[in-house]
Amino acid sequence: MLRQIDGRYAVSSMVLHDPHPASEHLIAFSTPLPLRSRLAVLAGKATSAVSRRLLLGRGAVIGGRVTLAVDPLVLTRLTAGRAVTVVSGTNGKTTTTLLLAEALGSTRTVSSTAGANMTAGLVTAAARPTEELVLEVDELFVARTMTTTRPTVLVLLNLSRDQLDRMVEVRRVADRWRAAIAEVTWNMTIVANADDPLVVWAVHRFPDVVWVAGGTRGRREAIQCPSCGQVAIVNAAGMWSCACGSARPSPNWTVDADHLHGPAFISPFNPSLPGEANRSNAAMAVAAAAARGVDRHAAISAVERVESVAGRYLTVPIAGRPVRMLLAKNPASWTEVLHLIDDDLRPIVICVNARGPDGRDTSWLWDVAFEGLAGRVVAACGERRWDLAMRLETAGIRCLVVQDPVDAVRAVAPAGSSVELVGTYSAFHDLLRRLHVRW
Ligand SMILES: [Zn+2]
Repeated sequence: MLRQIDGRYAVSSMVLHDPHPASEHLIAFSTPLPLRSRLAVLAGKATSAVSRRLLLGRGAVIGGRVTLAVDPLVLTRLTAGRAVTVVSGTNGKTTTTLLLAEALGSTRTVSSTAGANMTAGLVTAAARPTEELVLEVDELFVARTMTTTRPTVLVLLNLSRDQLDRMVEVRRVADRWRAAIAEVTWNMTIVANADDPLVVWAVHRFPDVVWVAGGTRGRREAIQCPSCGQVAIVNAAGMWSCACGSARPSPNWTVDADHLHGPAFISPFNPSLPGEANRSNAAMAVAAAAARGVDRHAAISAVERVESVAGRYLTVPIAGRPVRMLLAKNPASWTEVLHLIDDDLRPIVICVNARGPDGRDTSWLWDVAFEGLAGRVVAACGERRWDLAMRLETAGIRCLVVQDPVDAVRAVAPAGSSVELVGTYSAFHDLLRRLHVRW
């Protein structure tokens, strides 16, 4: 089924059902792929298709693993000579990746990762032959991915403490980013959050940076200057500066309550995704699309249309109650969620697991300002519901403890009443699968 067209390779059909349109099987890379890579891609696609058939998930990770097993160098080969954008940061990378893919997709073909941000997920995205490739990359894999894929654009959102057992000190992550950026020998533009001192510290020596005032994700603690370790001053407008001379760079793009301001450019800006953090993600996506030459108005229209990200923010019926699905995986994303649900008093179900993707150590719960839930009906569920219940109790929040999230939804609200559900990564995705919600 592999045939050569104009010096490029095409796969005409697949043996197994694949929901992607046939055009996606046209493997047209600027550098012809060696036989081993072609076979690796085919094996991966077949595996992904089987995984989807068996309803085991989207198949991106398992397919990518098979591809890598057949050809360990496949990612380098699949990305050679292509327009690659790498998106990383502790929070907002899945959302920003999706928004950027939509913005680029207004004028060209795009492949992107969908929440699968380790190497296997990147391989699956790269195996689709598109003009643009947008890769969400785990913070700890940025250096390696840069060496492998030589991105045209690097988008750096923020750095904050993630799950304690998997995240080394954030400063060390910034060090790794800084070292990797110092090694760049190809043409690359960095789109970086000027409001995050660690991002600025990693990036500021690089000659081609587009600065976006991307916000600090509601971070309340004092900002420590990454250059000298002193506490930096943050003024009312959110700008930071330090006695040592480090300061927030002047941004090329800023976003306010109604508008997006770019270089010699201002536009009304109304993303459908809720919350301030998503306004910032959307601004970063538009700035990155503009760096790739996409018309700014087209990019804005595209990001404004996105209403949910990998199931997040969807409202789904559970036991006869409309339930808004939210994901919170660390203290920074909880800050965003608390901000988002501030305006209503709907009952809230919190579902905490501690599997690999969630982080096995739940002590991060003690860094979440759950006091903000005072006055609401709250249920703790999931595999680590007792850890959560103890934390809530200490924060002065009385909660119901219910093992199963569907039972918890029933317990907190009568039929027909709206509920907010916040889950850690595995809890959130398990529930979507169980409800047969496709995204
Ligand atoms: Zn300083």
